[in-house]
Amino acid sequence: MGIKENLSKIRMIIKETAIKASRNPEDIKLEAVSKFHTEEEIIEAIDNSQVLFGENRVQEANQKFTDIYKQFPNTNLHIIGSLQRNKVKDAVKIASCIESVDRLELMDEIEKQCTKLNKTISVLFELHTGEESKSGFENFDKLFEAVSLCAEGKYPHLIPNGFMTMAPLSSDEQNVRLSFITLRESANRIKKEFPELPLKELSMGMSNDFKLAIKEGSTIVRIGTAIFGPRDYSK
Ligand SMILES: *Cc1c(COP(=O)(O)O)cnc(C)c1O
Repeated sequence: MGIKENLSKIRMIIKETAIKASRNPEDIKLEAVSKFHTEEEIIEAIDNSQVLFGENRVQEANQKFTDIYKQFPNTNLHIIGSLQRNKVKDAVKIASCIESVDRLELMDEIEKQCTKLNKTISVLFELHTGEESKSGFENFDKLFEAVSLCAEGKYPHLIPNGFMTMAPLSSDEQNVRLSFITLRESANRIKKEFPELPLKELSMGMSNDFKLAIKEGSTIVRIGTAIFGPRDYSK
């Protein structure tokens, strides 16, 4: 199947799953994860009404999306991969949101680079909830501290828009579900403390587990393989 068919199938599954979970399908955004895929493939998705994309490597994203923005200025890109400090400058130029904020040092650098550009940027705080992945704030307290500092006004160029996690690559559904529940409950506890902050997004769910994520409250599903097919890491 092609990108067009895959997109319409995924959109249908999102809708059906949302309705089954008594949720409004409009509350769930589909983010097409285009890492390792070409500009042509991304444009095919755009031609089929896809607006939101995710990339995990800044340099690759920069190469592809600088060009794409010229042709399709409404395109929206999120950075989803663990981010080194020296990549932040380029990341804040090309992305509308950094989903993989996982340490204060990174927040300091995003603030610094955004100040230079006189730009505000959305961020999601990533929580480590799975065993295999190493990314994300280690625990609830560290996550809480990061959001508190935003609430205190230390990061005026960051818009704290919500939370992100990657579930373990487990075939055990219970483990995956637990990871999503952990993110949702952590988010709810933090939102209660800081009702003045937006904190509205829960970015969770990938090709293999997005239905489960929607049942557990996801508002952004990040889907690569099920849209673009397998990635060729040799490229
Ligand atoms: C690659 C990636 C995805 C998409 O994974 P698929 O299994 O291809 O859907 C989602 N989130 C993050 C953070 C990723 O790095």
